Amino acid sequence: MSLQKPQSRPALQPMRLLCVVALALAVSPALAEKRAPAPKPAAPAASAPATAAQKPSDPKAETATSACQQRLAEFAAFTPLAELSGPGQCGATDVVRLDAILLKDKTRIPLSQPATLRCSMAEGVALWVRDDMAALTAAELGAPLAGLVNYESYECRGQNRIAGARMSEHGRANAFDIRGLRLGSPNGSPTAPRNSKPNGAMVEFTSPIVSKGFREALRKSACTRFTTVLGPGSDRYHEDHIHVDLAERVNHYRLCQWDVREPPVPVTVPLPMPRPGTRAEAGTAPGR
Ligand SMILES: [Zn+2]
Repeated sequence: MSLQKPQSRPALQPMRLLCVVALALAVSPALAEKRAPAPKPAAPAASAPATAAQKPSDPKAETATSACQQRLAEFAAFTPLAELSGPGQCGATDVVRLDAILLKDKTRIPLSQPATLRCSMAEGVALWVRDDMAALTAAELGAPLAGLVNYESYECRGQNRIAGARMSEHGRANAFDIRGLRLGSPNGSPTAPRNSKPNGAMVEFTSPIVSKGFREALRKSACTRFTTVLGPGSDRYHEDHIHVDLAERVNHYRLCQWDVREPPVPVTVPLPMPRPGTRAEAGTAPGR
């Protein structure tokens, strides 16, 4: 019994010390900071990929600036987008939202609706417009190119929207549907549209009343630049627009199916029966 007292004293003192130290640690702000250093939220953001090279830069862009996007910034206004993924096999990497194409003189050619495309396809479209379409429009239609009228770009679906069909290149953000273009102010050429809307008049690529020379030249340039070109005559889904894509096929096989339709034959109004004593004018209809 007498041994219990001297044993209990030395045991109690270290306990008190521990309590004091623990209290001091809990109260001292300096020590608390040392124990739990706050993570700096700015650090991961600073290491995010830089997008400075992009002209219409989007600070929210999460994807790295690819070599393609660096090139594209020279002749297009676009916003980098995050990777597209699914459902199924749909998806693409290095994707952009293409808003406009910049001509060599920096004229801005807007799309009628932004197109979601993989960068390589956006580059293909932009160069087609800048290097071929703009010059052809001025030369063949007599007015400057002022805008594009486009339909679809990325959409996860089967070819021609047929259930069970092979996946369309649209599902890879690798296809672009274009209906036509808009003209700027005519520059005096008699071939420019003259009625009602000299500024903004639309030219449909599939319309037979549009200059055949223009449509033929545009078809040739499209079939040189893209691996697939579908227009009138390819199937019933492409009567009112042109589909272009960069599908990769074995042996670099290309598909160029766009019938440039003949301009409509002027309707010949039947002449009244010649009156006795007069000769009918030579009224043979063209193409007969
Ligand atoms: Zn299409």
